[in-house]
Amino acid sequence: MQADGEFDLIARYFKRSPPDRMLGVGDDCALMPLSAGCELAVSTDMLVEGRHFLPGADPGALGHKALAVNLSDLAAMGARPLACTLALCLPAVDHAWLAAFSEGFHALARDTHCPLVGGDTTRGDRVVLSVTVLGEVRRSHALRRDAARVGDDVWVSGTLGAADLALRLVLGQLPADPERLRATQSALDRPTPRLKLGRYLAGVAHAAIDISDGLLQDFGHIVQASHCGADLWLDALPAHPALAGLDESLRREALLAGGDAYELCFTARPLWREQIEVLGRQLGVPVTRVGTLVRGQGVRVLDGSGQVVPVTRRGFDHFTDPCGDRA
Ligand code: ADP
Ligand code: MG
Repeated sequence: MQADGEFDLIARYFKRSPPDRMLGVGDDCALMPLSAGCELAVSTDMLVEGRHFLPGADPGALGHKALAVNLSDLAAMGARPLACTLALCLPAVDHAWLAAFSEGFHALARDTHCPLVGGDTTRGDRVVLSVTVLGEVRRSHALRRDAARVGDDVWVSGTLGAADLALRLVLGQLPADPERLRATQSALDRPTPRLKLGRYLAGVAHAAIDISDGLLQDFGHIVQASHCGADLWLDALPAHPALAGLDESLRREALLAGGDAYELCFTARPLWREQIEVLGRQLGVPVTRVGTLVRGQGVRVLDGSGQVVPVTRRGFDHFTDPCGDRA
């Protein structure tokens, strides 16, 4: 970065004054205090041009999404955000792009109290964004994938399928449908990490995961790590309204294997049903009971009459699938 020095870019677009008691951009490391009785939760997610987003993607949305997909991991652990770092690789200095990107990023950082406190900036042959989030969670309250138990209810927040539908429309895999695209595009471009829900579930739910690559694939990680099996009820899955009237196999695939939902899938004792429903109402986040954990292994999908539904796709794979828009 010769013409516009690396340090000018950092100062202009990324350096912001950090909250009290934190040391932010400008030293060798950022510093921040941890609350007593908490442990640190750390997660990194990378977005690569051509793999997770298309060249020419709206930079403001990209800034939002680069942070949102990371915050979603904190939410899925039940952690509260403390701060984040950003490693940025750019082919060239484009001020309009940087201004929109950094504004999208900082706006979500402000809203979620997750200030940008450090990072790295370099030139390379395509845009690569790597964000690390730091959070804290009460010791032994984290929502680990290996903590689900046989007999737990399985829950999903929000609705499923919107981002997947939007992506298929954007990629031209479905006939143009401006109305459906309008109804779903923000789910794809500007996902809302379920931070409050995750925090309140810490200490109540057993296990949680955020749905980034598809419900069956992601929930499958909980089932595998917890050494149990699960039944999911197809008819109970909370479908986004824009899925109404779609071809049934497409609808099913969007619900079961659609990525980029950034909703939480979590398991909890049946004892907590009412409290979880009250919590969802208080937070204005729909929560839906979609299945149960059983002895055995693997996830079975059952239809309304209890028959097993054959499933072809379980989710998205970053190495074998064509360009998508997933983190
Ligand atoms: P170092 O030589 O210690 O790696 P750098 O010169 O890479 O430091 O960065 C200088 C300062 O700017 C550091 O505090 C670093 O964390 C911060 N920084 C660099 N790039 C970014 C970025 N994209 N976003 C936020 N902070 C950044
Ligand atoms: Mg550096």
